[in-house]
Amino acid sequence: MKQYATFSIECTFTNESLVGIYNDFREKCKKYCIDEDMELYRIPLGTKTYDYAHELALKYPDKRNDDEIMNDKPVMYIDEIEIFITYEKADYEKAVAYRVNFWYLAYDYEDGTPDDFAGYCCDKPDWSIQIGKVQNRNYRIPKSEFGKRKYAMMMLGYAVADEVRDLLINSGLATERDFLEVITRRGAHICWQIMPEHEFSGFMEENDGELIDTCQTCGMKRYQPLHEPYRMSREQAEKLYGLNRTHEMTGPIMEEGTEVEGPKAEHILEPLYIINREAYSVLHKNYPRMQFVPIFAKK
Ligand SMILES: [Zn+2]
Repeated sequence: MKQYATFSIECTFTNESLVGIYNDFREKCKKYCIDEDMELYRIPLGTKTYDYAHELALKYPDKRNDDEIMNDKPVMYIDEIEIFITYEKADYEKAVAYRVNFWYLAYDYEDGTPDDFAGYCCDKPDWSIQIGKVQNRNYRIPKSEFGKRKYAMMMLGYAVADEVRDLLINSGLATERDFLEVITRRGAHICWQIMPEHEFSGFMEENDGELIDTCQTCGMKRYQPLHEPYRMSREQAEKLYGLNRTHEMTGPIMEEGTEVEGPKAEHILEPLYIINREAYSVLHKNYPRMQFVPIFAKK
């Protein structure tokens, strides 16, 4: 496992000492630059360069408010944006479970709205920040969106071709009830969305997830997206079925705690989809490039 932090830097001051710091950063971090126009740097954790960049990021945050940003007030900031993790073979071998994370997109932006396939969490949704909706109907997408793919990320969740579903069912790792058909607008079959029957609780909590809202009527919980690396107790990992989903839901709220005026905004929440070691081993053997995030045993 290798961990990196992404930094962005900007300097529009002409003040000599700030420009000096800016140029020094660019020089010292040159080899980690991943985007020159955006001035983005991806620096491995545990290196002297990271310590240097991290210190500067604490010292030079972007303090402008929205108005000042709109009016191009001069700025000098170094922003540590996110931690990015890459996993190696050994990580996949020692993992106790895996989160489904297909990268190839297959969804249709132009046609339809989320209301075509989503509804409220319950009859009387009662959320304090944003009303939670969940997917409750089949996706309808043009056949060309999925094309000849074997697997793909959807607007919500993930879908697989018939042969992947058959493989999982024939291997005893899933049943027909673990999949929801993806169809065209005329109802013709395209592929299958992974919609596991088996839910389990506690994954968000186990990974220090930040609970941001709960429906007071049905108790659905909404967490901020979790930070990697993920952890799970061995006991929980052993209880997993081939395909599983978390009981708790996730979906980001950018402005935490913001009270919305007027009609409350709505947002579709989704669970994490998690497979056990057996399902990973069968899928990885047949589709070596299928993407998953390893989940490690909790120490
Ligand atoms: Zn509810």
